[in-house]
Parts: sequence; structure tokens; C-alpha cells
Amino acid sequence: MTTDPTVPLFDTLTIIGPGLIGSSILRRALDDRRIARRLIACDISPEVRARVAELGIADVIEADPVAAARDADCVILCVPVGAIAMVAAQVMPVMKPGAILSEVGSVKKTVMDAMEPLLTACPDIAFVPAHPMAGTEFSGPDAGFATLFEDRWCLLTPPENTPASAIARITALWEMMGARVRSMTVEHHDRVCAIVSHLPHLLAFTICGTADDLADETRSEVLDFAASGFRDFTRIAASDPVMWRDIFLNNREALLDMLDRFVADAQAMGNAIRTGNEDVIVSRINRGRAIRRSLIENRQA
Ligand code: NAP
Repeated sequence: MTTDPTVPLFDTLTIIGPGLIGSSILRRALDDRRIARRLIACDISPEVRARVAELGIADVIEADPVAAARDADCVILCVPVGAIAMVAAQVMPVMKPGAILSEVGSVKKTVMDAMEPLLTACPDIAFVPAHPMAGTEFSGPDAGFATLFEDRWCLLTPPENTPASAIARITALWEMMGARVRSMTVEHHDRVCAIVSHLPHLLAFTICGTADDLADETRSEVLDFAASGFRDFTRIAASDPVMWRDIFLNNREALLDMLDRFVADAQAMGNAIRTGNEDVIVSRINRGRAIRRSLIENRQA
């Protein structure tokens, strides 16, 4: 990690997939040139590349991941979970020895499993996966903003033999993004995210589907009179289908486990309502209120 404040953390930082997350990293790094002297953005889509150029959020724009990664000190893959290992296989063989490869996917175990042979084949590249726990329901380069990661957690899941210096540099990068950083195993990461992010999205997609399945007249009333509870679900349900398909399928085991627990708890609440068990109903609501209060205290609300 750099100790001289006039030397940037990275000389060249490459972002592959400058969508919501990738373009937010670029915007923050443009505002704070201590992060990288040169910023390269790479996307397969000509429309995304044209938009990144119009927005002026990278110094160099590349269509080819190999050209984008060759001179980089750090490459961050900001593509959907299902594309991470495929793009890694393209860039790792051309990366400089000692360079760092990172990614920001929302699921870690399946990505790590797919990465194992690549890591063995390219031992000179340090792999430091990260997951910024920040986002919105929007995607693409227009959706990003420089303060997206401020006060949010960023979870790192480095493999056991990752050089400490590479972990320190990725930690420094996310701290310069405004985030708080914590390291954990891929298994723990996937279980935590199944409950705090993946199950809530599953519920939001499902409840919107249930409302949509109701008779036409009722559905229009749902839309006319949507109270804040339903409205909050629709915001989450507006998220990108490819991204969430990949997350659900890649975190299948942990997500299904959390779903089973949720169904059991929802049935218990249903029984309490059926039998008029006021104590159970009130205690459940109070637990929810307590969790909300701690989120506010932790500045995560
Ligand atoms: P996004 O806005 O859709 O951006 C993804 C970008 O990657 C798009 O520009 C996409 O281009 C491009 N892309 C897709 N496949 C590619 C490939 N093979 N090579 C090069 N570029 C490719 O998505 P995002 O929300 O930033 O999510 C990116 C990653 O961050 C995902 O792994 C997601 O799990 C993770 N993440 C998301 C959130 C969130 O709340 N959104 C939070 C934390 C982490 P096209 O548009 O042409 O497909």
C-alpha cells in the first residue's frame, strides 16, 4: 500500500462493466485522483461505451477486455455474477505479474469455485473479491453516483493464500470510496447476503407477482391505492432481471434455506393471527421495530 500521499493507490485502474457499481467506482475515482492516475472503462456493449464517453467518467474506453487489462495494476470486474469467471478467464493470462484482480459480485462461493483453476494457472495475480453492500434498483452507467458507497459496508472474501499487501490495497480502495470494510469466508458471505438481500428481493418479486395475478379490477386498485408497504416492495422489484436471475441461481442453497425458515416463521405469524394470539403478534412486530432502530443507529437505514 502506498505511504506517499502524492502517489496514487494504483497507477492504472480498469473497470470492466461500467454499470451502476462500475460507474460509481469510476465517478468516485475521478473525484479523488489519489485512487488512480489512469482510469480505463471496458464494456461489451457499444451503447454503454458511447454513454461512458459522453459522461466523461474514464480516461480510456476499451471494447476489448484484454486490451483494457494488460497495463492495469488493478482490474475490477463489475459484470453480472454469471459472467465474472468468463471475463476473468479472458483477462488473467494477460495481466501484469503482481497486479490485482477484484470483482464486485453479489454471490461469492460459485464464483470462487469457477475461479480456482484460473488462480492455479495464474499464481502471479492476486485475487481479492469484494462486495459493496450498496445499490439501487437502477442499472447502467447513468445510474451510478460518486457517493453510492459512503458509509456502506464492503465485504471482502479473499482466498486463504492471498498476499496481505493486495488485501490492504483493496481495503484502502474501498475506504477511499467511503465504505467500511470487513473480511469473511465465501460461505459466510453467501449466508449473510441470502438473508439481508437475496430473500427480500425474492419476496418483493413474489408479492408484485401475486398482486398482478389478482383480477383486473383489484389490480388497478392495488396500483391506485398502493400504500407505502407495497410501494417499497415495487421499488426493490424494479431491479435488473439478469442480475437477480444470476444471484438466485448462484446462491441457491443458502437462499432456499432462508426461504424455508421464512415460510415457517410466516406460517407461525399466520397461526397467531388465526387464533388471535396477541402476544405472538406484538412480539414479532416489536422485533421488527428493534431491528429498524439498530439500523438507524448503525447509519445503514
Ligand atoms: P449493471 O448496471 O447492469 O452493469 C453491468 C455492466 O456489465 C453492464 O454495462 C453490462 O453491459 C456489462 N457486461 C455484462 N456482461 C459483460 C461482459 N461479459 N463483458 C463486459 N461487460 C459486460 O449491473 P450492476 O448493478 O452494476 O451490477 C454489477 C455487479 O455488481 C453484479 O455482479 C452484481 O451482482 C454486483 N452488485 C450489484 C449491486 C446492486 O445493487 N446493483 C450491489 C452490489 C453488487 P450490458 O448492459 O450491455 O449488459
